[in-house]
Amino acid sequence: MLYIQNYIDGVLSEALTGTWLAVHEPATGNVYAQAPASAGADVDAAVDAAKRAFPAWCATEAEERSRLLRRVADMIEERLEEFAQAESRDNGKPVWLARMVDIPRAAKNFRFFATAILHTSSEAHQTDDIALNYTLQQPIGVAGCISPWNLPLYLFTWKIAPALAAGNCVVAKPSEITPYSAFLLSQVCIEAGLPQGVLNIVHGLGTDVGTAITAHPDIPAISFTGGTATGASIARTAAPMFKKLSLELGGKNPTLIFADCDFEETLVTVLRSAFSNQGEICLCGSRIFVERSLYDRFRDAFVERVRALVVGDPLDDATGQGALVSATHMEKVLSYIALAREEGGTVLCGGERIQLTGRCEDGWFVSPAVIEGLPFTCRTNQEEIFGPVVTLTPFDTEDELLAMANSTSYGLAASVWTSDLRRAHRVAAALHMGIVWVNCWMLRDLRTPFGGVKQSGVGREGGWEALRFFTEAKNVCIKL
Ligand code: NAD
Repeated sequence: MLYIQNYIDGVLSEALTGTWLAVHEPATGNVYAQAPASAGADVDAAVDAAKRAFPAWCATEAEERSRLLRRVADMIEERLEEFAQAESRDNGKPVWLARMVDIPRAAKNFRFFATAILHTSSEAHQTDDIALNYTLQQPIGVAGCISPWNLPLYLFTWKIAPALAAGNCVVAKPSEITPYSAFLLSQVCIEAGLPQGVLNIVHGLGTDVGTAITAHPDIPAISFTGGTATGASIARTAAPMFKKLSLELGGKNPTLIFADCDFEETLVTVLRSAFSNQGEICLCGSRIFVERSLYDRFRDAFVERVRALVVGDPLDDATGQGALVSATHMEKVLSYIALAREEGGTVLCGGERIQLTGRCEDGWFVSPAVIEGLPFTCRTNQEEIFGPVVTLTPFDTEDELLAMANSTSYGLAASVWTSDLRRAHRVAAALHMGIVWVNCWMLRDLRTPFGGVKQSGVGREGGWEALRFFTEAKNVCIKL
């Protein structure tokens, strides 16, 4: 049994409560680790440590902060295989995916923000010949970072790295469902020589640790990624305390396929955008709209490829789709398949629990599902499922397509498939989303703003947006 520990004031420790939470391996259904079931007192200790560390950390030269954070990046890469195995075991994702995407990206997050702070400049405004204004971007103090289970280390570091790079100290909470890679990160930070208290990682339930971070009076900024309902609850606590808030929430992303698309390229990438990481990526395209003249051809080819996706042991390199993250989540996904049938949909393939043999016989596997024949207004097409389930819907006109694509309460991301450049620009501008990909999906440049509109969130991560979020702008006006 692996015992995961908190990382508070530079030291690995158990929760002050002395209690533990079971951590499951989704591929087997077994408990393989225990994580600290921390509570408010652990968060208090972490905040105290962060407050003590802040004056020295924010005064540390950018070159030195950068060196330390790049050291963390290097050490994640040195332990790539160990991190990838941990992430796959904890989350159920194929180990090759963690090795190729999640872990390299976590290292890149550190390196990106560690180098960004060497290239910042501040604004200056000259008021005729009367005064000169310049803007200082100063760190906030202690930042709270709360992240979900779907891309555990990738999203955890996407918050922590800019917060630390900008000169803040951090109290962070990974998901209690996937705490393992955050624990490995603690070890790396100790070995890399990060000063004690600069980063503190507190494990535990959202309702204990997450709420304590959100409500703590000495944490003036909260960066959260997770579900929309949780985001709303955090906002209710944080708003009257006037905290800075960055909320990256749910999505129900449309994929818009026009008849003039590059058929093969579209097919390959839309398959990936639908089912990567078992469909458990906030950016996955789960509502696929296809121009009517292409609909039958696309549907038949797509279903054939989906049927060929191998659902299997995450440790096997041939596996295309691993296990869903928890038994509860699997039940939720299966309940949406049942709902789709009730709503009149036809399940063209998948949507069943799969019983593997051997090591994974009790794992939480669901075959990827493609459903057609549903109105765009039904619950299956409006609510976030966050699993390997997509719907296919034909369209006739661009106006009808946009009305359907924009019809949900979410507005995170979309992908548009066409060879008509003018249409691509027009449709991209008309989509109510924070992110639009044209003829690609999840092609990420870390300098670009990342986030959603409507119930997909508030604020943007990435690039200067993140560094601005983790600093306060102060104007200094000097009379000439
Ligand atoms: P969740 O909201 O249940 O949990 C996210 C984190 O918040 C966890 O660490 C959890 O312990 C904590 N938490 C739970 N209740 C809390 C509370 N009351 N106060 C403070 N913290 C609390 O989400 P999840 O199930 O872990 O993740 C799936 C969701 O995340 C999906 O809705 C998905 O779309 C979303 N997501 C969004 C993005 C994005 O960038 N927009 C990225 C990934 C995932």
